[in-house]
Amino acid sequence: MSTYQCATCRREVVYDGPLPVRYPFCSSRCQFVDLGKWLREQYTIERDLTPEEAGELLRLRPEAEEPQRR
Ligand SMILES: [Zn+2]
Repeated sequence: MSTYQCATCRREVVYDGPLPVRYPFCSSRCQFVDLGKWLREQYTIERDLTPEEAGELLRLRPEAEEPQRR
């Protein structure tokens, strides 16, 4: 049993075995928050997100994600 701290919400995550696919986040939601933040920072340098790019972000939403098991 090991723990790490979520990079987004700082919650402590307890896991057993190999590192979770969501590491260093506690959930796909936090992963998405961080990704969205990062992408926004990249895009706002040049311009706003186009609807297509926003749609691409939405496709990455955690709800659509299948849990990965190894
Ligand atoms: Zn979190």
